[in-house]
Amino acid sequence: MAGETIIAGIGVSEGIRIGRAYRLDEPAAAGGTSREAESASSAAGRSGKQSQPAAVGEAPSPLDAAAEERRLEQARDRSAEQLEALAEQARERLGDDKAAIVVGQRSFLSDPAFYPAIAKLVREEGRSAEEAVREVVERFAGKFEAMSNAYMRERAADIRDVGKRLLDALRGEDAQAGLAGLREEAILVAEDLSPSETVQLDKRYVLAFVTRTGGKTSHTAILSRSLGIPAVVGAGDPLDAVRTGDTLIVDGASGHCIVRPDETTIREYEARMVAERDRLAAERETRLRPAQSADGRRVEIGANIGTVAEAANAADSGADGIGLYRTEFLFMGKDRLPDEEEQYAAYREVAVRMEGRPVVIRTLDIGGDKALPYLDLPKEANPFLGYRAIRIGLDREEWLRTQLRAIARASAHGDVKVMFPMISGLDEWRRAKRLFDEELAKLRLEGKPVAERIETGIMVEIPSAALLADRFAREVDFFSIGTNDLVQYTLAVDRMNEKVAPLYDYFHPAVLELIKRVIDASHAHGKWTGMCGGMAGDPLAAPLLLGFGLDEWSMDAGSIPKVKRELAGLDSGACRELAERAVTLDTPEAVRAELKRYASKV
Ligand code: PEP
Ligand code: MG
Repeated sequence: MAGETIIAGIGVSEGIRIGRAYRLDEPAAAGGTSREAESASSAAGRSGKQSQPAAVGEAPSPLDAAAEERRLEQARDRSAEQLEALAEQARERLGDDKAAIVVGQRSFLSDPAFYPAIAKLVREEGRSAEEAVREVVERFAGKFEAMSNAYMRERAADIRDVGKRLLDALRGEDAQAGLAGLREEAILVAEDLSPSETVQLDKRYVLAFVTRTGGKTSHTAILSRSLGIPAVVGAGDPLDAVRTGDTLIVDGASGHCIVRPDETTIREYEARMVAERDRLAAERETRLRPAQSADGRRVEIGANIGTVAEAANAADSGADGIGLYRTEFLFMGKDRLPDEEEQYAAYREVAVRMEGRPVVIRTLDIGGDKALPYLDLPKEANPFLGYRAIRIGLDREEWLRTQLRAIARASAHGDVKVMFPMISGLDEWRRAKRLFDEELAKLRLEGKPVAERIETGIMVEIPSAALLADRFAREVDFFSIGTNDLVQYTLAVDRMNEKVAPLYDYFHPAVLELIKRVIDASHAHGKWTGMCGGMAGDPLAAPLLLGFGLDEWSMDAGSIPKVKRELAGLDSGACRELAERAVTLDTPEAVRAELKRYASKV
């Protein structure tokens, strides 16, 4: 085989890893089954393991039905937690079919006919939990397979996946391990990875991954960052030459992938890995310190969350609060709208877990690309410009009222704030605010405890809102800039479309103008501005945002340590000057170059 070769891909998740390649698409490695045939099922299916009988015998014998039922319950709870975690990551920015697959699997576990049937076999017939799971799963799968509707037939694979997960949990194995054929550390090499596959990657075995296709804004790229797995995508044809067992170096920052590196290269990268580890250790150490610049300017760092479970993680990561609670997930794992009590329970839980720290709850941001099967929303030619978020809330007022009541009631348990997404004009904001005020007044009349004052604000993610920031600032309590959407609407670049990904850039001068405008307007009226889009979690943007005077930064919990660390080295006066210079530049490249120059001096 030829010597060292370098493949230039797109680095999407930073980190250097050295290891052996494991090709996902090699028939031998995949248990002789085709990738397509298996892609509908969980990653475990890849190994061909799914059809083998699971090892049993761990059940206590003679069977103590009560103990067995407890085991079963634990397995169900564990599986539910895993699927929730999986769905939550899959739905991060997606809300598409792939997330819906996982969400659908989760809903089987609370289906009134499914789990109770398993428990009944254990309780009344003295069967082992494993036997009962297998029998009921097959019964359900058989029913689905017999249906004429193709969608329903596909549910058979889903329920088998759920069954497999339950059996894994009963065996004490981690079904999240995914890619069951992979039982030692390796660098995964694949044509592509779907988001739902990506969220299942087990960090114990997957050192990094490299895919032939994919772009910077692909869902897989986003998920790899949130999982903390270094990744290179879009490596192209040269990746075909990589074989299972080849030594690989992956640099997720530069996008370089070195195949069969020589000794000198390996040593060089080993040294870089050590330096990187030191840096990460330092970040971990600083994560619980307050976020402030070297000259003492304090800023708030929030976490973006989608589920209650993430709130605990947020506090652990050093967040001062929750800057964005995306409530969509609560609505997605169901076959109907969650009622007020259900919503209240979730919001209250987050407020309680945050122990008085601020929690910004965003009202439902559904529609567009984020489907809710039970809503029956019409297909649209331009979903991002269509019926979504607050537009649906104001159209189907009762839903928004229910959610606002639940949020208001949670305010009795912490510092809860309400935020409306996709606001394009003042009338929308005023209508939404009026609904909130009305529900608040009703709750008070009903004698339900609510906070004395609840801050209300808007997301600035449509350019019109940014342009009118001065007028909004008179009425709202705060802004939170959603750069993920603001960039796509300002630059007319679909955030999901890889073809136009190079144009998607929050350092575009037009975007910077809008950001500055919003922050200035809020300050002129004694209000505050946060940012909950991806830009807030980018350390390169930190000096610029500090210079603009951003008050609150909200990001994925994983980004908090590095942003705090970056902030700790900055001088707010110098950053103000930097920001003033940056807004005069003409192109995103020039802004980046200026920021890099600045970073290299700090
Ligand atoms: C945004 O648009 O920046 C944002 C935070 O909202 P989402 O990513 O949920 O659309
Ligand atoms: Mg948005």
